[in-house]
Amino acid sequence: MSDKPSDTVFSKIIRRELPADIVYEDEICICFKDIMPVAPVHLLLIPKKCIPRLSDATASDSELLGHLMSKVGVIAKLQGIDDAFRVVVNNGAGACQTVFHLHLHIIAGRAMSWPPG
Ligand code: 5GP
Repeated sequence: MSDKPSDTVFSKIIRRELPADIVYEDEICICFKDIMPVAPVHLLLIPKKCIPRLSDATASDSELLGHLMSKVGVIAKLQGIDDAFRVVVNNGAGACQTVFHLHLHIIAGRAMSWPPG
């Protein structure tokens, strides 16, 4: 897997160079099924602009971040999981981030526990 932010697997999915099971797309973002799901429903919602980590976002990304958050509920309704789901952002290798293109994990379909591991 490349560590170049502009050349992650997610950039390849956006460019249709890698296949993905896409469940939602608009001009700002794209949402697809995680290749290694940790729950019956495990989606990844990503901006088309590559921001490596959430902590790399700046004030100029505010609209984009708001767009992503506002689409979570829309996608959850489309997927029939709006009753109960979890949204996770891993920021940095120490927090288990492996793909350095900002993504929201949307996880549902099984019992959740708290605190997370
Ligand atoms: P992270 O650990 O960075 O928060 O999450 C990265 C996620 O991307 C993981 O859940 C992993 O399974 C998923 N992933 C990695 N490569 C691919 C891929 O090529 N296609 C899809 N659909 N998901 C991927």
